[in-house]
Amino acid sequence: MRTSTASLLLLVWGGATFAVAAETAVRPGRLPPGVTPVHYEISVEPDAAALGFHGRVAIDIEAGSATDTVVLNAVDLDIAGARLDGKDAATIALDPAAQTATLKFASPLSPGRHRLSLDYSGRIYTTSNGLFAVDYATSSGPRRMLTTQFEVADARRFAPMWDEPSAKATFALEVIVPREQSAYSNMPESSSRIDGGKKHIRFATSPKMSSYLLHLTVGELERISRKVGTVDVGVVTRKGASESGRFALDSAAAILPWYDDYFGTPYPLAKLDMIAVPGSSQFFGAMENWGAIMYFEPVLLVDPGLSSESDRQNVFYVVAHEMAHQWFGDLVTMEWWDDLWLNEGFATWMAGKVTENLYPQWNPGLQFVGEVREAALRLDAGDATHPVVQPVPSVEAANQAFDSIAYSKGSAVIRMLEDAIGEMGFRDGMRRYMRKYAYGNTVTDQLWAELAAATGQPVADIAHDFTLHPGVPLVKVTTEPCQDGRTRITLAQSRFEMGAKSTERMTWRIPVRLHSVDGGEPVTVLLTRNGVPATVSLPGCGPAVVNAGHAGYFRTLYATADITRLRDDFARIAPVDQLGLLGDTWALGEAGRVPSATYLELATAVPGNSDPLILQQVAGTFGKIDRVFDGSDGQGAWRAYARSSLRPMFDRVGWLPVPGESETVALLRETLIRVLGRLEDPTVVAAARERFARAAKEADALPASIREPVLAVVARHADAATWNEILARAKAAPEPIEQQRLFSALGLALEPALASRALELSLSAEVPSSFATNIMQAVSVSHPALAFDFAVQREKAVLEYVEAASRWAFIPSLAMTSNDVRMIDRVRAYAERSVPMDARQATEQTIAEISTRARATERLLPALEAWVRDRSKVAAAH
Ligand SMILES: [Zn+2]
Repeated sequence: MRTSTASLLLLVWGGATFAVAAETAVRPGRLPPGVTPVHYEISVEPDAAALGFHGRVAIDIEAGSATDTVVLNAVDLDIAGARLDGKDAATIALDPAAQTATLKFASPLSPGRHRLSLDYSGRIYTTSNGLFAVDYATSSGPRRMLTTQFEVADARRFAPMWDEPSAKATFALEVIVPREQSAYSNMPESSSRIDGGKKHIRFATSPKMSSYLLHLTVGELERISRKVGTVDVGVVTRKGASESGRFALDSAAAILPWYDDYFGTPYPLAKLDMIAVPGSSQFFGAMENWGAIMYFEPVLLVDPGLSSESDRQNVFYVVAHEMAHQWFGDLVTMEWWDDLWLNEGFATWMAGKVTENLYPQWNPGLQFVGEVREAALRLDAGDATHPVVQPVPSVEAANQAFDSIAYSKGSAVIRMLEDAIGEMGFRDGMRRYMRKYAYGNTVTDQLWAELAAATGQPVADIAHDFTLHPGVPLVKVTTEPCQDGRTRITLAQSRFEMGAKSTERMTWRIPVRLHSVDGGEPVTVLLTRNGVPATVSLPGCGPAVVNAGHAGYFRTLYATADITRLRDDFARIAPVDQLGLLGDTWALGEAGRVPSATYLELATAVPGNSDPLILQQVAGTFGKIDRVFDGSDGQGAWRAYARSSLRPMFDRVGWLPVPGESETVALLRETLIRVLGRLEDPTVVAAARERFARAAKEADALPASIREPVLAVVARHADAATWNEILARAKAAPEPIEQQRLFSALGLALEPALASRALELSLSAEVPSSFATNIMQAVSVSHPALAFDFAVQREKAVLEYVEAASRWAFIPSLAMTSNDVRMIDRVRAYAERSVPMDARQATEQTIAEISTRARATERLLPALEAWVRDRSKVAAAH
């Protein structure tokens, strides 16, 4: 899966446990062993209007020993009858809490092959789980599309089955639909016939796969396609939207041969569809169903009139992520959700890798260090972190395991290992792993074993330190004066923490690469777990850059004098290390490990002609600093300073793209408009308003490149009239993506009365139901307490819009951007009243984030205020 940006923040985990359960033990939440599925024949007939369906399933099963009882998963299904080899079951008992159906038979099954048949009916949901309905408007009236989302454990809402990743089987699906509709599943259609006025569509039998990867979409659909080698690659959309899938189709066509080569095992299915579904989820943006990847429209479709450069790049990343899962996840699957990171960490890393090769001009290495690495380090330094490989005892815990540790830390650790053992050796290890475990299931250590076999290097030692233990290492650098053209550097490690809880001393085996900005040869040293500092003699007398290339998963703490020297030599540092230094310095200031204003000192030294992604880091951090100033008297002076720094950047970049500019300039422009809007830059706010007003009549007043940031600025500063205008445009918007963007914007208003109106509106019939939670999440950005309290008071109504997987995470996470410690008690009180014990990870993560923010704000504010005051005195004196 690929989480949406919002849910990446929202989906979080809180337990920190070190033990990894033995792989063979029978664990709670698992089906009893003994009977395994081999092949499923499933036939469903949905009644879209009535939100229900009838189903029949015949399952070929293998019984390991004689038993009169068969237990399989089922939830929200009415099972009308069950037969084994044609004989009726004596009893059928459903257990909603365990999500199982237990079938008892009069005489025991003999060991060996049997056929189990069940007739049943189920629900079509209106939130994104199981088989669900998505409604959208067209010029000829409203339409309803049906689609599925089964990860982690919702295939059992579609048919009774062994709904666990290791219970791989083959699937043959049939669906009966209205004759004007079409349907897509994992495999190509094998037959289609009209019978009784309805269309009966059969799909070819799938290879052996996990149940969570099964997929079905039904509706008034169209498809564009391209043959890539022997594979029929397609984009499926609602009627009239397929041309917006052209960029995704071209991307997939470029990515597929690259992956075929990298993994060494060609994509094994005859077709690969990417299916666009209107709407959104709180849990995910896209899902890697084998051969039938499902995306919500904003992460698949690119509309030249509506989509910006960041939208386009995001589509490419998501396509690359989901396609990587076709191998990592679909062909080879984790044994159980403990090793979820094997799916998500690798898909995240792989997306960066293929981008580096196909779109080097996007500078994905820099984007990785600026975004993915930072997301991992932040969560991992807080109170509620957990190991990458973690025990997952239940469906609830599995749902909450999709967090920045699995995705971002997972991928950062892989990047470090690849850097340590070499690109080619790493690739060879991956090829061995794919070949050996194709159509099977694995645990993490089986991957380390193949990497070690391919390279002869002890990969597992470093890998275990970073995947079986939580936490971020901090490498402290001590520099001695240069002698004879060499500099002696001492590196010592400890744990970097941003939370309130003190934890035990921890050490890691850490490969550290460093070099002098003079350009001498880099040196790599391995810090050991005994914690003894390492000393290195580095060629060159310039300041040392530690974690050169920033592939290492740790933060670097320099002495003040060293930071000053790096600042003075900033332009000579490689952009990736500039970015790492800026990120580390800001985080260390938040944690009180360096003086709070060190980041600002460094930012003043960033040359105006730096890489656009470096300038984007500065602009983005200025936005974060502005949050620290929220509600303080010093905010006016800070904003004056920040605007005076950022305006010259924006004046160079301009409002509109110029021919031939780089794609990263386009990203910088989007960030600068948002941040200058936040800083209340009068020119930017006025120009944004003027463009928005003019856009009512002139379409090109709001070109795609700046449409979203301009709308965000206008919405943030909206008065009642502007807010009503946004609402009117949202209702009239012809395209679901634009409609979702406008409805969400209503939640961004700073004015509390308008934010409250947005919350009320979200639950009303005026808003298409799939956008309701988007509005609440938008309100929570500036008004976390308002959004959280509203959702608690209206809990029942709010949860109607939340899918099963986010049921326990959604409301607590609305408080996440608060920096008010008083919110912690309110979040805890809610969880104690409403959230089951094994589903409180998101709550704990929210509390940890609030605590980190509150502590950082308290520490940073006085120091930053003083820095701005001193700075304006100096400016006045000149
Ligand atoms: Zn994924």
